[in-house]
Amino acid sequence: MARRRALPPAPRFFVTGTDTGVGKTQASRALLSLMADAGLSPQGFKPYESGCASLRAPADALSLREAARSDLPLDIVCPHRFRAPLAPGIAARRLGREPDWNVTLAAWERVGQGAVVVEGAGGLFVPLDSSHDVIDLISTLGLPVLLVARAGLGTLNHTALSLEALAARNIPVAAVLLSRGSPTRDPSERDNAALIAERHGVRVLGPVPYLLQPVRRHAAFRAALAPLLGMDRARAR
Ligand SMILES: [Mg+2]
Repeated sequence: MARRRALPPAPRFFVTGTDTGVGKTQASRALLSLMADAGLSPQGFKPYESGCASLRAPADALSLREAARSDLPLDIVCPHRFRAPLAPGIAARRLGREPDWNVTLAAWERVGQGAVVVEGAGGLFVPLDSSHDVIDLISTLGLPVLLVARAGLGTLNHTALSLEALAARNIPVAAVLLSRGSPTRDPSERDNAALIAERHGVRVLGPVPYLLQPVRRHAAFRAALAPLLGMDRARAR
């Protein structure tokens, strides 16, 4: 009788950032598309999205679903949506609402046990409702973190603060991904990756170059993140 080979566990990550606008969606999209290419049928999960121009079309959630090549209903991919460009918990409070944590957990059940990328909202201490921050969601879902951070000056402090907070909750960190947020390089970049790796004993990927052209930007994020999935950088482009 042929012995069946044990399948490796499906890759599952929670993508958070040291700040808002650092490249979480780009990183999530790149991971999902790499997983989809590998035939893993991944799912993206963006449970809280604010700053939605239309509540029927949350841009990040749709973008993750597209990258995953998934047809999971939008109410599962993104159960909580807000128009205001504010932390989700603050946007909800202004509307006199309390986002139902159980709705988040029920959606998460439907996302399933396969390959998955969850995108948070802003950084670790962004409120999601009156009693939960993003870091509470990470703890509850029990996923390792990909921390997206700026490549340049200021990143040592922001990255250290986020890593310390994650360590205090015993949340494993799969890697830190550095990303350039502006076309001008700054002199700190040369040492940042090595210093973060050395001080915090964490894997550091990137820096992803600053590229305006969406196709090239996507390819650069894929190349930087391919090693996290045990894939070849060159083949990810
Ligand atoms: Mg985003």
